[in-house]
Amino acid sequence: MLKLFISSLFLLWTFLSIGQTPPMVECATVAKSSWVKKLQSINNNYSTTKKTSQVVPIPIQIHLIVKVNGISNLTISQIRNELDSVNHFYSNANMFFYECSSPEIIYDDSLYNYEYNTEESILLSQHYTNDVINVYFANTASVNGTVVCGYSQFPPSDDYAVIGSACATNGSTLAHELGHYFGLFHTHGDISQGELVDGSNCGSDGDLICDTPADPVLNSGNVNTSCVYTGTAVDANFMTYTPDVTNIMSYSRKVCRNSFSAEQYFVINNVMQTERSNLYCQSVTAINNYNKNIINLFPNPGTEEITLLLSNPEYQTEFTLYNTLGVCVYSVTFSGNSLRINTSELATGVYFYTTKSDAISLTGKWIKSE
Ligand SMILES: [Zn+2]
Repeated sequence: MLKLFISSLFLLWTFLSIGQTPPMVECATVAKSSWVKKLQSINNNYSTTKKTSQVVPIPIQIHLIVKVNGISNLTISQIRNELDSVNHFYSNANMFFYECSSPEIIYDDSLYNYEYNTEESILLSQHYTNDVINVYFANTASVNGTVVCGYSQFPPSDDYAVIGSACATNGSTLAHELGHYFGLFHTHGDISQGELVDGSNCGSDGDLICDTPADPVLNSGNVNTSCVYTGTAVDANFMTYTPDVTNIMSYSRKVCRNSFSAEQYFVINNVMQTERSNLYCQSVTAINNYNKNIINLFPNPGTEEITLLLSNPEYQTEFTLYNTLGVCVYSVTFSGNSLRINTSELATGVYFYTTKSDAISLTGKWIKSE
């Protein structure tokens, strides 16, 4: 199990050997060497290919593993809060995660403290919904007996991630694992960890992404509680690292992780459109007729007017537009296929919208330009 996992075990061993409490192993997502070439080819188009201009809804299925008697360290409400945090981080990739169906509660004492080796096949054969991102929340998630924060899979793969409860509400682990699912390596690099501080090999080493600085493998020992890097490591040219302690794909303190870089957003959006284009909500129960086209808002960015298109005209839809302070600047309830909204009076800038239709609620970002 791969370089990453071995290095994680080494880290664990290091802590044990110097008598400290072992840290939770961050992440057990296994780097795929086959993904390197693909990621490089995506990055080669970085300056020329555009992101999708519309917000793309991404269907998720929450699976919460609880004991047979119902005991759990996590609630659905906590998980939904975490999903809000994910949506905040992914809005710049023009993506919005939503629940395709009601959460599945898995009552199973043996899966409650989940072990990858023996139990992944059970999750994927008995508790898996095709073509949505299945996110399994266990009390603990282990790989070879070592407790980890979580893991996912690089593309191409089945659509899932596993998260342990200790890392399920920290605001960044779910976003991090979904980052792997959408093709991002750790900023310190998974296949090779020799990215130079001067950026000269940024396209072939480290995370292969050039707008994330070289990262000497961050951890709670070299990032302080004020989210300042305190390490003194140097690269092969004896240059001191200036890593980004806020990057979600790093091993920085979890409370410090709150950003993706522009190129990371580009990769996420590209992988969503290519490798993950199967994602589609097929549920006919909780979300009747819901599909990727339920809302189409254009133009975005826009100026004088925006148009909303809805795929299902039968539902009453409530549309609300907020400014970045969270103040409602426009609200309307309507039914039908489309609605045109005059936005000429609004100041230029970023807005967030919500649409509520039947039981469905979606949010997205809209930009008013000059
Ligand atoms: Zn990771």
